[in-house]
Amino acid sequence: MTVKTGILKELLNSIVKDHIEVVDLAQVLNENTPVIQLPEPNANTGGFKFKQLSKYNETGQDCYWNDFVAGEHVGTHFDAPIHWVTGKDNDSVDQIPMKNMIGEAYVIDIREKAKQNPDYCLTVEDIRAFESQYGQIKSHSWVLIHSGWSEHIQDHKQFYNIGEDGWSHTPGITKEAAIFLVEERDILGAGVETVGTDAGMAASFDPPLPCHHYFLGANKYGLAQLTNLDKLPPTGSVLVVNPLKIENGSGSPVRVIALVEKN
Ligand code: MN
Repeated sequence: MTVKTGILKELLNSIVKDHIEVVDLAQVLNENTPVIQLPEPNANTGGFKFKQLSKYNETGQDCYWNDFVAGEHVGTHFDAPIHWVTGKDNDSVDQIPMKNMIGEAYVIDIREKAKQNPDYCLTVEDIRAFESQYGQIKSHSWVLIHSGWSEHIQDHKQFYNIGEDGWSHTPGITKEAAIFLVEERDILGAGVETVGTDAGMAASFDPPLPCHHYFLGANKYGLAQLTNLDKLPPTGSVLVVNPLKIENGSGSPVRVIALVEKN
């Protein structure tokens, strides 16, 4: 079948000719992939496990393949609204309208603030400062929090950053900013570089895990453990999110890509 409309033809040509770059925002999945640890008495998800079935050998002369075991929330992954109690009547991952998996990305840089204070959480003031520079965040878009945390992915000590107080000290989003993005900007969801969408200390917030609480409660989405956000412009790239269609699933590992127009 040939491409019928001019728009898609132009898109395809631009990708083939590298006028549009396709940026991979996913971290590699392996047995070293960090996994979120919820405090007691929560059950925790296991990590990614790989088991080779055959590799052109006695169990399969012609065939290389593996089984893997992984939680829904392992590595770069998608949080479906049903993941949180506030969204218990909202969509599971197989019910998500796929139209919502494509949207403009707004990338808010909090790297300096997170460097000064690993517990730093995005504020409404940060969003307003971003908007005064780049324009108001539109509905049907993704907001990505560029904390720089993906740099620590190989070093679990730094990635979890557990303090002497036993808390993980990693950046996130304030309750007020979550409410603002949901109610005032009607975005699709928020994406982060850390192990989960909320700050490391967010279990101590009121309500606990505000990003989960407000976004998923409003039938919106989360993306965790993104990387390569430094390759995206602050506005104007297009995110494509492809979670697995797990029946009644609460989330899924995901290969997020961004389409970025080159100058
Ligand atoms: Mn999750």
